[in-house]
Amino acid sequence: MSFHNLLSQRTRHMGANAIREILKAVAQPGMISLAGGIPSVQSFPMTLLPELMERVLATYQTAALQYDLTEGFLPLRQALAVYLADKGIAVPAEEILITSGSQGVLDAAAKVMITPGDTVAVEAPTYLGALQAFNAYEPVYICLECDDDGVLPDHLSQVLQTRPIKFIYLVPNFQNPTGRTLSMERREAVAGILRETNALLIEDDPYGDLRYRGKHLPAIKTLAPDQVIYVSSLSKVFAPGLRIGFCHAPQPIRKWLVRTKQGVDLHTGTLNQALAAEYLRGGYLRRQLPIIRRLYRPKLTAMLSALANHFPPNFRWSHPQGGMFVWVQGPPEVAMESIYQKALACHTAFVPGQYFYPQPGMGHETMRLNFTMPGESEIDTAVGRLGKIFASTANGT
Ligand code: PMP
Repeated sequence: MSFHNLLSQRTRHMGANAIREILKAVAQPGMISLAGGIPSVQSFPMTLLPELMERVLATYQTAALQYDLTEGFLPLRQALAVYLADKGIAVPAEEILITSGSQGVLDAAAKVMITPGDTVAVEAPTYLGALQAFNAYEPVYICLECDDDGVLPDHLSQVLQTRPIKFIYLVPNFQNPTGRTLSMERREAVAGILRETNALLIEDDPYGDLRYRGKHLPAIKTLAPDQVIYVSSLSKVFAPGLRIGFCHAPQPIRKWLVRTKQGVDLHTGTLNQALAAEYLRGGYLRRQLPIIRRLYRPKLTAMLSALANHFPPNFRWSHPQGGMFVWVQGPPEVAMESIYQKALACHTAFVPGQYFYPQPGMGHETMRLNFTMPGESEIDTAVGRLGKIFASTANGT
C-alpha cells in the first residue's frame, strides 16, 4: 500500500541527502573513502571518558539525567561563554542556546524565518546539510559569487540591494566543501554591509578550531554582533555522536529559536551536555585540540602533495589552512559523476561536487575530498588511483 498521498507539500520537497547515500555505498571492505565528512575516531578523547563521566556524576548527580531547560544545561552554557569570550565573542551564558548538533540551529533558524518562496543567500557550493535543513521550508536560493578568499562583498552588497533576503548563510572558516577561508579584509567588508543594510547572517563555524597553518581570524560575529547568528559545534573537537551544537542569536530571533526547539525535542540530552560542560570546564578541550591538529595536519599535507604528484596539470584545487576538505576543479569537459562510478570500481570514493550546489546543473567538474578519515599512505594510494582514472579518461580509454 502506498501512503504517498498522505505526505505534506513540505515533505515532498525533501530530497535524500546524496552524501549519506554515498557513504552507505562506500562502507565496503577494501574501499578507501575520501567521501566522508566525519572526524577520525582517533580524534576522540577515549582515554579521558571514564574521568569525565566520574566528574559528571560527582558534580551533577541526578541532575545529569533529569529534564532540563530548552535553552540548555547552564554549566555548559557558562563554559561556552568562556570559550566564546576567548574568541572575542562576548555573550552572556544565559543568551547561548544549546542544540542537538549545529544542524539543530540550522533547522530551527529556517523554521523560524523562512516562509515558502523567501530568498536565502548562500555560497555556491555550500554545506549540503544546511541546504537540506533549509529546503524543508521551501526557500529560493540566490548564489553569492565567491573566489579563493570566499564570498565577494561587492556581490553580496548588490544582492542585498536588489531583493529582500531572509538571511545569508556563510561558512567562513575552512568551508565545507571547499576548505576555503574568508579573508580578514572581506570579513570586515561583510560586517560593514550587514550593519549598513541591517541584514542577518548565519555564520556557521564548526571548523574554526581546526587550523593547521596561518593565524586565527576573528568571527564576523565579533565585527557585527547584532547582525549575526553565530553557530558552532563540539562535533569536530569532542565527538559528533554527542550531538552538541550551540548558537548565539540577536535578541529578536533568540526567543523564537527556543520556542521552536521546545516543540522539536524539549532540550538536548542532559547527560551529553553535562559531559560537554566538564570537557570544557576541566580544560580537556584545550589539551585535546593540539592532539587533533597534530593528527590532521600531516593528512592535509599528504593530500596536497598527492594531488600535486598524481593529478593532471589542468586541474586546480584549494589549499586549505585547516578543516577537513580539499576541493578540486577539473576542466569543463570532466564529468565527476561518471568518474565517481569508475573510482568505486577501483575501491576509491569521493563526493562529486555537484551535490553541494543549491541549483542543479552546477559544478559537474568538481569534487570534494576528505582527508581526516584515511591514513596518509591511503590518501596517496586513493589520489593516485583517481589520477590514473583522469589520465585514462583523457586518453579516451
Ligand atoms: N555545518 C557544517 C558546515 C558542517 O560541515 C557540519 C557537519 N558536517 C555541520 C554544520 C553539522 O554538524 P553537527 O550537527 O554535528 O554539529
